[in-house]
Amino acid sequence: MIQLYIPLNFLGVIYREIKQSLTDLDKMFVLMEKEREVRDAPDARPLHLRPVQPADATVRFEDVSFAYEPSRPILRHVSFEIPAGKTVAVVGPSGSGKSTLARLMYRFYDVQQGRITIGGQDIRKVTQASVRQAIGIVPQDTVLFNDTVEYNIAYGQPGSTHEEVEAAAKAARIHDFIAATPRGYATPVGERGLKLSGGEKQRVAIARTLLKNPPILIFDEATSALDSANERAIQSELQSAAQNKTTLVIAHRLSTVVDAHEILVLEGGVIVERGTHGGLLAQDGRYAQMWAMQQVEAAPVVL
Ligand code: ATP
Repeated sequence: MIQLYIPLNFLGVIYREIKQSLTDLDKMFVLMEKEREVRDAPDARPLHLRPVQPADATVRFEDVSFAYEPSRPILRHVSFEIPAGKTVAVVGPSGSGKSTLARLMYRFYDVQQGRITIGGQDIRKVTQASVRQAIGIVPQDTVLFNDTVEYNIAYGQPGSTHEEVEAAAKAARIHDFIAATPRGYATPVGERGLKLSGGEKQRVAIARTLLKNPPILIFDEATSALDSANERAIQSELQSAAQNKTTLVIAHRLSTVVDAHEILVLEGGVIVERGTHGGLLAQDGRYAQMWAMQQVEAAPVVL
């Protein structure tokens, strides 16, 4: 039995190795595919943001329409502004186009109509790399590399010192958790290492973003329900990360958006309502309905 078990176990290890390599390759191809979607104009220059506080990083969507496939429009005549240092939240049903707004802002794709500007500059006319340098994304599902915790955080800003990594981890409130593991920041994570919960992964992503310290943030809230203590903690970490940054929050729980400068309700790629939390409740429309529904439900609802 033991004789059989060892080779089988060994095969299991090999299988996991191959599977992981394929997953990494897969991710690489997905990224490469995305890279090919947009090309820099021959005369593209880097995005230039004036070094003031908060940075002059106002984001504007001006009459933006977009389709992945010509026959199926996804966004229609979307216009909004995220003033420098402020937070705008987007809510709406699944498939309404919320993540598409984030993808366009990060310039995974170019818009087909209208334009997106950052600091007054059309993002199609500046280099894609400089747009991405200006934006930090905390995604729904953070990709962790099969490497140490240190590497995974430092990935936000390659070349960071250990002290900088630790400071970012402290600010994202993941330091105590890391310090409690036997190998601390040298602990491997991922498939073959430490398994992190959804909340812990998001904290690693927040630490990465804090280290990168970009003037613009995109926070794609996890759809998977975190327990409410974890959710509150992540929210407060996010709020401190978003201070003085131009922030787009894609929200699945309305509790996240209460303090936003403006809330956009997106349905079928169209902004159907917009305003502050109080203003939208007073309108007694779609948002007020969603809010009432979430108050009734004990658990966070995925919109
Ligand atoms: P959720 O809340 O479920 O994350 P969402 O509002 O963020 O949804 P999007 O991810 O923006 O929605 O997707 C909007 C629509 O675009 C969906 O109908 C989706 O199927 C479609 N879509 C998304 N990505 C692609 C793609 N790469 N190619 C074609 N269609 C796509």
